[in-house]
Amino acid sequence: MGKYYGQMMVIQQEVGDIHGALALMGWDQEVYMPRKGAATRGRQLATLSGMAHTRFISEEMGHAIERAGSEELTLDQQVNLREITWSHKRAEKLPTSLVKALAETSSAAIEVWMQARANNDFPSFAPWVEKLVKLQKESAEAIGYENEPYDALLEEYEPGASTQDIADVFEALRGPTVDLVQRIQNSEVKPRTDFLKKTYPVEDQRRFGVMVSKQMGFDYEAGRLDISPHPFCTHMGVQDVRLTTRYAENLPAQSLYGIIHETGHGLYEQGQDVNHEGTPRGQSVSLGIHESQSRMWENMVCRSRAFWRYFYPKFVETFPESMQGVTEEELYAAVNEVTPSLIRVEADEVTYNLHILLRFEIERGLFADVYTVNDLPDIWHAKMKEYFGIEPPDDRSGVLQDIHWSHGSFGYFPTYTLGNLYGAQFYDTAKQALPDLTEQIAHGELLPLREWLRENIHQLGMAYRPKDLVKQVTGKALSADYFLTYMEEKFGRLYEV
Ligand code: ZN
Repeated sequence: MGKYYGQMMVIQQEVGDIHGALALMGWDQEVYMPRKGAATRGRQLATLSGMAHTRFISEEMGHAIERAGSEELTLDQQVNLREITWSHKRAEKLPTSLVKALAETSSAAIEVWMQARANNDFPSFAPWVEKLVKLQKESAEAIGYENEPYDALLEEYEPGASTQDIADVFEALRGPTVDLVQRIQNSEVKPRTDFLKKTYPVEDQRRFGVMVSKQMGFDYEAGRLDISPHPFCTHMGVQDVRLTTRYAENLPAQSLYGIIHETGHGLYEQGQDVNHEGTPRGQSVSLGIHESQSRMWENMVCRSRAFWRYFYPKFVETFPESMQGVTEEELYAAVNEVTPSLIRVEADEVTYNLHILLRFEIERGLFADVYTVNDLPDIWHAKMKEYFGIEPPDDRSGVLQDIHWSHGSFGYFPTYTLGNLYGAQFYDTAKQALPDLTEQIAHGELLPLREWLRENIHQLGMAYRPKDLVKQVTGKALSADYFLTYMEEKFGRLYEV
């Protein structure tokens, strides 16, 4: 190993270890920490992040990176050098004063947002969104971009992606999705969902969810499942992956699909090559690719007809009273109910992307100076009406619903829809590679799919950037077609449209 490459990796590992500690503290904050510990925890997290940042942008790291470039490197080492150089440049370009201003403004903005949402008072939040947009425009200028400022923000979450590419793919998705939603709304078919609101004891929900995630191949000796108000997945290493979910006695589908979604993320983390732990080569490649794993398992696999062929009898056995008189077909239809709704996080598989398209279009417009912050409630209403045929009665269930903007996280939303599209495209390839896949799922055999994903996606870490990974795995550039075909087939049949 080259001398400078070695030095670079020592620092990379130290920074990675600090991030592991931060992840553990963040997990604890959501799962166990007593409420009064919040202020101290906030300071500790800030101190440690600062240390990691300082170490990463240190002169020593800069020198090592620069000189490692003229050493002879293996392919894996080249991946690490490429990604570390990219992150280092990006971090270096951001002035410390700007990073600090963003952290301070967003932590104040979150408080304002919570109040504003509670009081349905967008005007009190608007100046804060303006400040954050202004600061993020400065970040974009500092980082640099090819075509529009939004590119620089997007790249934070989806390395190598361009706004225009995404806009083109989303544009192809919008019309057919709006059309499908309208057809479903006009359909005579309305699935019964009454039984999913009956009583399902929490301990039995947990047992059932754990059983499914084990069957998916989640290794509970290298991970665990806990409870938190907002489900998430985090990791301290390849062999320490933490999932959370939440339970409500009368919402069994929420906890089950929460567990499955987070298990999808968890399998991606557990599937990384342990020999490359703590390096880009042993890391997930982007939020969009991450989301492709969770969404594929949640929707394409575990909301499929084949899945319930195997799991329906087990579900009935676990919840005999609430499931009395409910057929397999009724359960399948109920977990796939489509209803246009105001709230993104409660949206079904079909309407979900429309929520994201709306936010992406607004963000892009804000950063291209097409929209001003004060326009947002009106634009929100107009787009809701156009895409969903409904309008929010107030800003609380409209423009104020998401936490992301108060964090200053612009460019994050598109990764959710990218995940759905990547997921459908990967799944299409998986089905060709595993001709018996549907049959296997109908027998509860979920491991062949996990193995395929592991070999073709998980184990590659950051070897390819998202755009190239999609081509590498599926042979084609990202397209909305796979997802559209999948939706038409599934929901066309379910709703007879
Ligand atoms: Zn997710």
